[in-house]
Amino acid sequence: MKTNGWFIRQRERFKCKESIALHGIVYGAALIALVMVGLCGLVLYQSREDAFERTRESSRNVALIAERDIVRNFELYDLSLQAVIGGLQQPEVSALPAHLKRDVLFDRAATAKYLEALLVLDAEGNIVVDSTSDVPREANFSNSKFFTAQRDNRDAGLFISDPLRFSLAHDMPSIVLSRRISHPDGSFGGIAMIAVNLDYFRNLFAGLSLGARGSASVIGHGGVMVMRQPYDVRIIGRDISTASTFRRFIAEKEGDFSDTASIDNVRRLYTFKTLPHLPFIIMVAVAEQDIYASWRRRALTIGSLMAAFGGAFVGLSAMLGSQLRRRMRAESELQLLARTDGLTGLNNRRTFGEILDLEWRRAHRARSVFSLLFVDIDRFKAYNDTYGHQAGDHALAAVAKCIGESIRRPGDTAARYGGEEFVVVLPNTPASGASFIAEKIRAAICDLSLDHAGSEYGCVTASIGSASWEPGSGMDVSDMIKDADRALYRAKAMGRNAVAVANPCAGEVAVDDAEPAIEQGLLLR
Ligand code: GH3
Ligand code: MG
Ligand code: MG
Repeated sequence: MKTNGWFIRQRERFKCKESIALHGIVYGAALIALVMVGLCGLVLYQSREDAFERTRESSRNVALIAERDIVRNFELYDLSLQAVIGGLQQPEVSALPAHLKRDVLFDRAATAKYLEALLVLDAEGNIVVDSTSDVPREANFSNSKFFTAQRDNRDAGLFISDPLRFSLAHDMPSIVLSRRISHPDGSFGGIAMIAVNLDYFRNLFAGLSLGARGSASVIGHGGVMVMRQPYDVRIIGRDISTASTFRRFIAEKEGDFSDTASIDNVRRLYTFKTLPHLPFIIMVAVAEQDIYASWRRRALTIGSLMAAFGGAFVGLSAMLGSQLRRRMRAESELQLLARTDGLTGLNNRRTFGEILDLEWRRAHRARSVFSLLFVDIDRFKAYNDTYGHQAGDHALAAVAKCIGESIRRPGDTAARYGGEEFVVVLPNTPASGASFIAEKIRAAICDLSLDHAGSEYGCVTASIGSASWEPGSGMDVSDMIKDADRALYRAKAMGRNAVAVANPCAGEVAVDDAEPAIEQGLLLR
């Protein structure tokens, strides 16, 4: 039922407030959850970066420690070779018996760990001094690279071979270090050589924790694998010079990069370092899967917890919002009920007072006209007496509905003033417009055709008094109410079922000045 503009406006306002509260809470919660998830994502991203950075640092440290160890050991091996050559060039040492010569030349170096053999070869490649026995073992290495390199180049310096199976060391994978022995005239006199068991490199990297798919390797400058941890004997000596990773090792002295190995399609972080003065590259590779393994577990736990909490937070907020909305709705309904007449659904008298006051002040401010209608059902006591109170209540509700439906503008407001009396506030409406509305209401009530045996018209009718205010009239609200009331009684006096307009100047009812519609109303007497 269209009751009145004020009521609808209030309801709209309440709905708007409810909507703002609900959306504010839900969107606010979603924003907070989003910020929380975003922050969590940022922290997780940073911890991922940290995991990568930590691996890079530890790989560099592994490479550095390995470098120091290798450089130091090879320096010692080279010093041993140089000591042997220096000793051989002294005639007193050459003249010593074999066992003494061995002691002098090799000192205790020959007993060093991983050292397979310390030998002196003559210009034909035959062993002439053997660190393991006074009688040199019989072997010829004239075709070996470590021999020819020294024979063919007087400035070869320290030569380090690729991994090879050294026959005197039961075919153990070894590398050989050799230095040239020159006669005083510079001609080739043989070599001094040391065979180092590759177990040295193997043990150097043993026990390193590089993840399930990680590795640490020593690679020769030519691209030949010297050692790899995890150890696989088939890898030793393999040529990887064509691999893209190796080409990067050669291009830069040291550094790191991520690349996907074509052999197993695993992406790894490669950290490499070229050893100074030695033909080795140390490479530490850690699979990204392993780098991020613990981070991924943590991210999964924290991420899912965060998502769950965020979702729960938004869900709870939505629940809270809908509870709040329900509460606000209940409150607004209560508020509206407190302001509404229970029988007719129109505003009650208290609300009417507020609205009238509001419109009065607004009209003053805006210097606009406004009108007031007093509607009173005719012979209603008789109606009650004839048809009973319940039927009287129904008639009251029907009349109220009629009044409500007769006012169209959003600002128009109807209220039950008390008993069978109603009031209508018409903002921005001059007397002529008010008369028109009043007549509309009167006719509509009449058209209800509610039987009323006690009425001279045979049906339920109403009398209406109208009063209007305009700027400069000097009236206040109570004057206006009195005027409308007086006009109403004038309409009653004229025979009921009529509209009467108060004379704003004289404070009297000016029936004769009424519009044709009003006259028509009066004619219905
Ligand atoms: P008039 O034409 O002069 O207005 O006569 P009237 O009988 O309508 O006026 P009166 O003031 O003598 O009586 C008003 C009656 O309205 C009294 C009461 O029985 C009836 N009335 C007032 N409030 C209610 C109500 O809430 N329900 C019902 N059923 N009747 C009511
Ligand atoms: Mg009355
Ligand atoms: Mg009455």
